[in-house]
Amino acid sequence: MNGRRFVRQTVLPEVGEEGQKRLGKATALVAGCGALGTHAAELLARAGVGRLLLVDRDLVEETNLHRVALFTPRDLGRPKAEAAAKRLASIAPEVSITPHVAHLGPDLALDLVSGVDIVLDGLDNLETRYVVNDACVKHGVPWIYTAVLGTQGMTMAVRPGEGPCLRCLFPTPPPPGAIPTCAEAGILGPVPAALAALEVASAIRILSGTPSESGRLVYLDLWTGQAEAVPTARAPDCPCCCGNRFEFLSPRPHTARLCGESVQVLPHKRAPLDLADLAARLAPLGRARVAHGVLVAELEGVLLTVFPDGRAVVKGVSDPAQAQALYDRYVAR
Ligand SMILES: [Zn+2]
Repeated sequence: MNGRRFVRQTVLPEVGEEGQKRLGKATALVAGCGALGTHAAELLARAGVGRLLLVDRDLVEETNLHRVALFTPRDLGRPKAEAAAKRLASIAPEVSITPHVAHLGPDLALDLVSGVDIVLDGLDNLETRYVVNDACVKHGVPWIYTAVLGTQGMTMAVRPGEGPCLRCLFPTPPPPGAIPTCAEAGILGPVPAALAALEVASAIRILSGTPSESGRLVYLDLWTGQAEAVPTARAPDCPCCCGNRFEFLSPRPHTARLCGESVQVLPHKRAPLDLADLAARLAPLGRARVAHGVLVAELEGVLLTVFPDGRAVVKGVSDPAQAQALYDRYVAR
């Protein structure tokens, strides 16, 4: 690698040669590879962060393309984590990149978080953010909470032991349906890019060894241009960072409503599934094929996407019980 690649960054007194070396030795987990996650992953790779882990459970869809980085129409139907890793490898070949096409549940979160220096939020749902918050506080790993919707976004660095965690601010997740999804409320293309820039700046600051900046929630509205930094504090009764109770790391229900009219169904047991075998079994009942390592089947007017780990996304239903029933009928044996 040409030694001049990072010269405009190392000349900054805020980073310097020493900070750049620390970035090169650091490992960052990007949780979610949608719009926020792809912009964040590209900025981290270009900044010289040495190792990136990417986790995402979904496939690239046409409706993602107006706001993401890294993906092109050729990536439609591919797992997001793998498509992102492939593109990043050409942008920054010296960075070690490991994609995980998986649901970031408690087991995987604990496993991955224990081996990284920082976690960046690219998630599209609150449930998983509480899982990540618990795993990060438990392992003492900093993470950058970031959320976007409509024309706005917000971000806060969580530094366990130093400042507030997600549950200090929002003690419990709102009930399902209380917050509109991006499918319902829409999202302005530049919003995730701007919020990803803020969260990666926080990550570079932390990874390069700059003292704490915890206790500040930054709001940004890209449409009005309004920005605000609100001071935040630890809640003395926070069950997570003050009580050491990690309630979101316990086993969770097997179904979850996703953005849009779709439901994710988790297998009861973690075991690899033979997708070719399943496709052959489903073929007489509807249309079923395996492409890019996932099975896609059209059955009873719904679209069923099944991953090698046994997880499925049922598109075309919003009732978790109905999705579970379809899963039990066609996938579980
Ligand atoms: Zn807390």
